[in-house]
Amino acid sequence: MVRYVYDFTEGGRDLAGLLGGKGANLAEMTRLGLPVPPGFIVSTEACRAFLATGAEPEGMSQEVSRHLSAIESDAGRRLGQPDDPLLVSVRSGARFSMPGMMETVLDIGLNDDSVMGLAKVSGNDRFAWDSYRRLIQMFGSTVMGVDGALFNRMMTRLKELRGAPDDLHLDAADLAELVEAYKQLIHEETGDYFPQSPAEQLRRAILAVFRSWNGERARLYRRREHIPDDLGTAVTVQRMVYGNLGRDSGSGVAFTRDPATGRPGLYGDYLPNAQGEDVVAGIRNTVPLAELEQLDPRSYRQLRDHMHTLERHYRDLCDIEFTIERGTLWMLQTRVGKRTAEAAFTIAAELADEGLLTPREGLARVSGDGLARLMFPRFDTSTTGDPLAHGIPASPGAAVGAAVFDSAEAVRRAASGETVVLVREETTPDDLPGMVAARAVLTSRGGKTSHAAVVARGMGKVCVCGAEELSVDTAGRRFTTRDGTVVEQGSVISVDGSAGAVYAGAVPLVDSAVMRFLETGERSAGVVGAVAGALQLADEIRTLEVRANADTPKDAARAHRFGAQGIGLCRTEHMFLGERRKLVEEMILARDDAARDRALDTLLPLQRQDFVGILEAMDGLPVTIRLLDPPLHEFLPDRTNLAVRIAATEARGEQPSPRDAELLAAVRRMHEDNPMLGLRGVRLGLVVPGLVAMQVRAIAEAVVERTRAGGSTEAEIMVPLVGDVTELRLVRGEVEQVLADVSDESGVPVHCPVGTMIELPRAALTAGRIAEEAEFFSFGTNDLTQTTWGFSRDDVEAAFFSAYLDKGVFATSPFETIDREGVGRLVGIAVAEGRAARPSLKIGVCGEHGGDPDSVHFFHTAGLDYVSCSPFRVPVARLEAGRATG
Ligand code: PEP
Ligand code: MG
Repeated sequence: MVRYVYDFTEGGRDLAGLLGGKGANLAEMTRLGLPVPPGFIVSTEACRAFLATGAEPEGMSQEVSRHLSAIESDAGRRLGQPDDPLLVSVRSGARFSMPGMMETVLDIGLNDDSVMGLAKVSGNDRFAWDSYRRLIQMFGSTVMGVDGALFNRMMTRLKELRGAPDDLHLDAADLAELVEAYKQLIHEETGDYFPQSPAEQLRRAILAVFRSWNGERARLYRRREHIPDDLGTAVTVQRMVYGNLGRDSGSGVAFTRDPATGRPGLYGDYLPNAQGEDVVAGIRNTVPLAELEQLDPRSYRQLRDHMHTLERHYRDLCDIEFTIERGTLWMLQTRVGKRTAEAAFTIAAELADEGLLTPREGLARVSGDGLARLMFPRFDTSTTGDPLAHGIPASPGAAVGAAVFDSAEAVRRAASGETVVLVREETTPDDLPGMVAARAVLTSRGGKTSHAAVVARGMGKVCVCGAEELSVDTAGRRFTTRDGTVVEQGSVISVDGSAGAVYAGAVPLVDSAVMRFLETGERSAGVVGAVAGALQLADEIRTLEVRANADTPKDAARAHRFGAQGIGLCRTEHMFLGERRKLVEEMILARDDAARDRALDTLLPLQRQDFVGILEAMDGLPVTIRLLDPPLHEFLPDRTNLAVRIAATEARGEQPSPRDAELLAAVRRMHEDNPMLGLRGVRLGLVVPGLVAMQVRAIAEAVVERTRAGGSTEAEIMVPLVGDVTELRLVRGEVEQVLADVSDESGVPVHCPVGTMIELPRAALTAGRIAEEAEFFSFGTNDLTQTTWGFSRDDVEAAFFSAYLDKGVFATSPFETIDREGVGRLVGIAVAEGRAARPSLKIGVCGEHGGDPDSVHFFHTAGLDYVSCSPFRVPVARLEAGRATG
């Protein structure tokens, strides 16, 4: 018999898959003996069964009744008991936290009778009616599908009528009136009545939470966070405790450390006389947690002790939600808290220093993505005027963009390439698409734990919230500062999420301290020390080498400073651009061997000089130089432009220049419908006489020059786009000949290992044969992904990837993160067969995936010797290669 419901006393945090994060952690706190209101959890298994069949799984409702009875007998009253009702909350809780994305219904058990009972036993009419109107509002929108804005509008209208500045100024009679109006609204909108039966309320609320797993904003959030769609949510049912019983009650959210900077010390927001939802929604402005110490010292001390217990127990930053009901503290939620990249590094280092974590565990807590974020620049405010406003620094970083005032506008403008800042009074889960589209989020209300802050931090977006000096006019699409400055939609503003400031116009940017450290090795206190420590440990334990893709001495030097252990890919075609393009044109247009040789002779010294510079920057380290790869027509003018130019000349009655005519003929001759699958890579080397020889001579002569200058070079020659061993054998013969010639001429022996890229499925599948001719392999996973999937790497991301991501064909673009199942399998085959044929074969990867954290872990597991990535990703790859060994 399948079991669907678990009491808090039965579970623990290791059951998050079954009980959801919230339920599992409530169970954990219960086991730790912390004051948690009793409750039970309907499992994710029940949700999956419900979503699969559309029907309540068999036996579930009986189990719910049984567990409810236990709470009832513990409390000595029944759900919705007319004279003294037990009330419960119903909340979602998935395996991975999805803040605000699914539904919650509070105060279940209230009806026209029990509201009276609650008023009597609490001695507080206003509280009872306020709870009832909250229930109807939440139930009406969540369970019965009435537009939530309609309830809000009614509430606003009543407040205006009564001249009430906020909810607290509405009295019990007002709220009772609102309850009637809400009930009527539900009936008008749905034709159905708000259910008076507490059991029916509970049952329908649980199913509504299940359904909210497939709600639009939950799906969007999952896609963005790469959370699988088939996990389902658990539902937590818990006895209500009340933060809105008067001044001796309240609700708050707290962190055991500052989630923005990682600094130790309790951190959070408290709202007296309020329920938890009010704090997170940012409806009223909260007070800092420190003020609770004055308001209720006993609860504050208990809270501090519990948080200490939790941090020690979880060995990590915890965030909690709590409620104080008439001086009694209740813990309503805890979880390992979301944090910024800066906080992640700082906290991991500190917990390791405190001995709570081993250094390796500390390394597991940080990420390459976080490091990449810390490498972003900051604002240079030395020359800027005063900020327009200050707010709470909720998610760090610097963003410049056009102010927009609603989610749809943010999406629209971002789609056309504009950088935008979403400005709202406060955000709700409905703003999610706009937050995804925006570079930064700015709100005038809400604390560090408001929806805007939590979601922005999770996404790595810049966020300043609670900028109370701003008056945001969403309808008028503008905001006004305290001194009367008006900022209209579209005006550029700068948002400093680290300092909590907003500036007019575009503030200039400066490098981050972490970037400065990476460039210069200069350490400073705080996060830089934590990053330095993590990288040092990663370097000590990793088995993957990290090289860089670099084509200029400047890039090579930077990569070296960033810790690259060589160059894994020098794309020589990048050396044929600019001025030199003309020379390549000459080579292509050459009518005879002599003309081609002349063109190649002119290119030779230029290439040699490039190689000398790069070899010098990477002295003593391997430098893999790849022979020319792209189709030659890329070096010729665009066919259409050229044809138009010639036609225009002719239309003027003039004769086109012979060169233009010649060029057009060449462009037409060389045109390919599928150039990516055409005459490129090794194929060029085999059909354009002298090209390979020129490039190899340039490399060899550069080696001679560096050797004579006392350098120590390790140039490696790499052949692109090989699909068959014969291609490699032919080119290799030519390469060896030139190396021997240069050695003879110069008297300096030149040895360069010759290897190949593995970037075609055929190459991977015949890797054993290819390894007979190759001293090393380097996976070109860009082309290998392109050719394995049959996706044009230049077109598909714009064309249909968003639809594929939507439909769940894949969770991330396979051009970003290696497709382990398909492309990864080819990599595995090639590694195994290549090494079987030649045990000394050195194997790396130089496609974009070499700098992608998830892919780095795959390459580690696949047994590669190195990854090679762009210079800026080198520190990320070093860190991830270290983490991969854990
Ligand atoms: C690759 O295909 O992965 C690669 C590194 O080569 P390129 O991107 O230059 O085609
Ligand atoms: Mg390639």
